[in-house]
Amino acid sequence: MPAASRATSPNASDDSSAYDAVIVGGGHNGLVAAAYLARAGQSVLLLERLGRTGGAAVSEQTFRGVDARLSRYSYLVSLLPQRIIDDLGLRFAVRKRGVSSYTPTVRDGRPTGLFVGDGTARTRESFARLTGGEREFEAWERFYTMTQRVAQKVFPTLTEPLPTREELKRRIGEDDTWEALFERPLGEAVEEYFTDDLVRGVVLTDGLIGTFSHAHDPSLLQNRCFLYHVIGGGTGDWDVPVGGMGALTDALADAARSAGARIRTGHTVQRIDTDGTTAEVRYRTDEGEGTVAARRVLVNASPQALSQMLGGEQGAASGAGRRGESPVSGSQLKVNMLLRRLPGLKDTAVDAREAFSGTFHVAEGYEQLAEAHRQAAAGELPGAPPSELYCHSLTDPSILAPELAAEGFQTLTLFGLLTPAECFEAGSASERDALRDAALARTLAELDRHLAEPVGDCLAHDADGRPCIEAKTPRDLEGELRLPGGHIFHGDLSFPWAAEEGGGRWGVETAHPNVLLCGAGSVRGGGVSGIGGHNAAMAVLEAEGGRVAAQVR
Ligand SMILES: Cc1cc2nc3c(=O)[nH]c(=O)nc-3n(C[C@H](O)[C@H](O)[C@H](O)COP(=O)(O)OP(=O)(O)OC[C@H]3O[C@@H](n4cnc5c(N)ncnc54)[C@H](O)[C@@H]3O)c2cc1C
Repeated sequence: MPAASRATSPNASDDSSAYDAVIVGGGHNGLVAAAYLARAGQSVLLLERLGRTGGAAVSEQTFRGVDARLSRYSYLVSLLPQRIIDDLGLRFAVRKRGVSSYTPTVRDGRPTGLFVGDGTARTRESFARLTGGEREFEAWERFYTMTQRVAQKVFPTLTEPLPTREELKRRIGEDDTWEALFERPLGEAVEEYFTDDLVRGVVLTDGLIGTFSHAHDPSLLQNRCFLYHVIGGGTGDWDVPVGGMGALTDALADAARSAGARIRTGHTVQRIDTDGTTAEVRYRTDEGEGTVAARRVLVNASPQALSQMLGGEQGAASGAGRRGESPVSGSQLKVNMLLRRLPGLKDTAVDAREAFSGTFHVAEGYEQLAEAHRQAAAGELPGAPPSELYCHSLTDPSILAPELAAEGFQTLTLFGLLTPAECFEAGSASERDALRDAALARTLAELDRHLAEPVGDCLAHDADGRPCIEAKTPRDLEGELRLPGGHIFHGDLSFPWAAEEGGGRWGVETAHPNVLLCGAGSVRGGGVSGIGGHNAAMAVLEAEGGRVAAQVR
């Protein structure tokens, strides 16, 4: 194993030293790891294949000639611990949303909906208007008081060494709660607590975000996904990143650089060779190939990519006890829009500005979700694709040029559920385009059912006169971001405890002692949380003999 790096082309790299750590991938988690390690005095080189850092957490000017910087992929923050922001001195803030959610529907032929937010009295009133009584509201309060208790107990553990299952159960200390959330399919609790189909559906959606599952899935995949959607920050709130997701990534890159980490974009890592003590990382740039030596390699790319980098080695990435290399597939449609104006609602009891500033659920009744799952499981695009929308610029207009904000332009983010990658398989690019167009058309048609005017009529136009709308299938995301199968969490989420056998202490370990996962693919990774990066850095610093406390904090 060479002790120093070398470039096989004179332009590929000017590195001439071995690093304490090479980080593969500059997603937000890779940047978190880089910042922690550099602050602890380690020499750090981060290699990112794209021309920019941030991975799926970025802001981009999406429509030509239109000065609106959209959070193109991920868009809301819940799982990022304040501790990471404080430790790294990040200049980054989130803003609370005044409205939690609005879910339009039609009852007795009349447009109505469920509004959650703006204080207890208004939420209670909305439940009564929809369901005709107090029961569902009271169940809602009980249910989410229960999830909040779990959040307060579980969230702080995510940045500590993994507890065992039994330790986490003891910590939660409520047998009924444990049963409902960790042992039995989520659908059972949802059906015990709630009777109204729409209310049940709204609750279940948090178990299906980016996850192909259903209420009674015996694998409890929906429970795992639900858990990560209700524990963030110890409250489960989903907040607006001020300045968009790119503001977070930029703050992280600044923190890493100012601590001394070197960040190289346009560097695609192809291979990692390790003897367990030192490693050699081979990368490619536009100019040629190069290698760099490191004591440790932290991999922010997916577990599947890590396996390939290790030469297709089976089991290499699965030391963390999470997902290893089995094929995974994403299950969402992401749509970005810029509007000249917000469309009004058919339900005149709620103002559109309020409805779109929270999560706007579409076609997410309990039965609708079950039917969409059945159709997608049979390989068909759901007839009424469920989705949820949110308008960033209502809470944080800073992502729009002042003249656009003044004219009333608004962004609209749509996240479609239960549209697995398999629904977009086709022999040719034009067939795949047609499937994407069909999914988009069906999704917007469901939205339009609740609007006073079609959303298409409200779209802004770019410099070429094209409507400001783009849709991304799992396959698109796989191509752009290398998310395996387009899975937004690099693979299905896992419960936040140690594997019974062979699991690592931090959930980042692999089969090689000096190669760690530091991204969404680690045991508690997934989502914009920085937790994968933090935990990998802690594993390294712990192995270095307790330098964490002295040098990082
Ligand atoms: C459409 C969409 C919407 C989402 N919405 C939300 C949301 O609102 N809130 C939320 O919390 N989460 C959301 N998520 C999930 C969240 O964005 C991801 O789980 C998270 O960003 C993963 O971060 P990461 O740093 O671990 O990995 P990534 O962001 O995937 O970054 C990995 C990096 O590694 C690089 N890389 C890969 N292979 C190589 C290689 N061979 N050499 C060098 N570099 C390489 C990639 O280019 C990438 O930059 C969403 C994701 C998507 C796709």
